[in-house]
Amino acid sequence: MAYLSISNAKTVDILVKDLLVSGEYSGDVCATKELISSEKGESSCSSTVEDRNEFLGMSKRASAKPLLSNEWEMYIHHVGQKFDGGAEEFRLKLCKYALEVGFNFLYAGNDKKRVIAVCSNKKLEGCSWRVYASRCESTGCFVIRTLNNVHTCVGRIRESKSKMMRSRVVASLFVDRIRAKPELKPIEIIHELKDYYGMDISYYHAWFGKELAKLGVHGDESKSFNELVWYMDAVNETNIGSLCELECEAGINRSRRFFVSFGGCLAGFQYCIPLLFIDATFLKSKYKGQLLCASGKNGNQGFYPLAFGVVDSETEENWTWFLQHLASILLLMGRMVTFFSDRNHGLLNAMGAVFPGWPHSYCYYHLKQNLISKYPKSGYGKLLQDRVVNLFSKCAYAVTEEEFKVAMDELVVVGSSKVKTFISELSRDHYAKAFFSKECVMERWQIV
Ligand SMILES: [Zn+2]
Repeated sequence: MAYLSISNAKTVDILVKDLLVSGEYSGDVCATKELISSEKGESSCSSTVEDRNEFLGMSKRASAKPLLSNEWEMYIHHVGQKFDGGAEEFRLKLCKYALEVGFNFLYAGNDKKRVIAVCSNKKLEGCSWRVYASRCESTGCFVIRTLNNVHTCVGRIRESKSKMMRSRVVASLFVDRIRAKPELKPIEIIHELKDYYGMDISYYHAWFGKELAKLGVHGDESKSFNELVWYMDAVNETNIGSLCELECEAGINRSRRFFVSFGGCLAGFQYCIPLLFIDATFLKSKYKGQLLCASGKNGNQGFYPLAFGVVDSETEENWTWFLQHLASILLLMGRMVTFFSDRNHGLLNAMGAVFPGWPHSYCYYHLKQNLISKYPKSGYGKLLQDRVVNLFSKCAYAVTEEEFKVAMDELVVVGSSKVKTFISELSRDHYAKAFFSKECVMERWQIV
């Protein structure tokens, strides 16, 4: 061990002393602290400077840059130290401690009641670092019973890549971030670990760490289906007037479809204009499926959620089931609404069967995208594509039948056969303002 006694800027007295022999070396934490201080150019408590790797039990940080992991070096420090989170918290903190101090360990014993870890250099170099912790039966917490926190193996290095950076460690670091931003990508986790923790991890560990964190936030997805019955009861009990229905497969009681409309949303919808947007989107969970949704518009021109359905796929049967529940709600309110939707085949058939004669407008954006796909820029050029879309817009927004006819004639000439086919499959009552059944909407709105 080298001691520096800095008497002035020009001369330095050096005293070499073996702390291990003299018994003055007090363990990892002190050594690491001293090293950090020396790297920062500060004079530590004993003005100690370490030249790592030449001394047993010493360690060195890869970077002097302050990192969020710096505090981990204090995670394991004395016999009697308690971990309220039990074995799980102890194992996690042990990993972080080893990672920050710069060594690997192996479990000599590992279960819910006790954990024994030894330095991975025990076999090769006979390192005596060892920790033993067990559960306190009265409190359920984990307590360090014995600890030899001195390494006798060759100096350790806090490296950017470590076997101790396991997916569980990643999950513990990102669980709050993923709760706030579930779409956080594994590549973002990799970059953040590099920037804030000075760690390099593989894509797999980032991905799996994210999956574990999601599990912690949302729980096990298979178990969550089992909670649906409890969830229905809770909704009915706490949100009076709600409509919930869980349909299970006969014989095996496996959940098949779920419908919910909250009492608060039903009450508020009576003050919304009579419009409902019907759409579906993919569920990205482990079990996939589709989320069906009926949304209105609030007074701030924002979405107003009215009803949700969870089904396996967007079929006519599932749409019919969803719309029948929606119909029971609307009939109870005595309201007729105008529907907006894309032209999903199953939805169109179900809509005709459940809400015959109710005004139904096709979403202009979807129609425009359909038209654009028939005139790709590569084959027809942007000029023609823009002209066709512009003329179709004139047809859709024409106020009078005459105005519609002029725009349509021009569209057919410009767009030729592709437009003719496209238009022939569309009923103008469902997309052209001049023919839409606005009378029906206004009449009903007056009634409400
Ligand atoms: Zn060791």
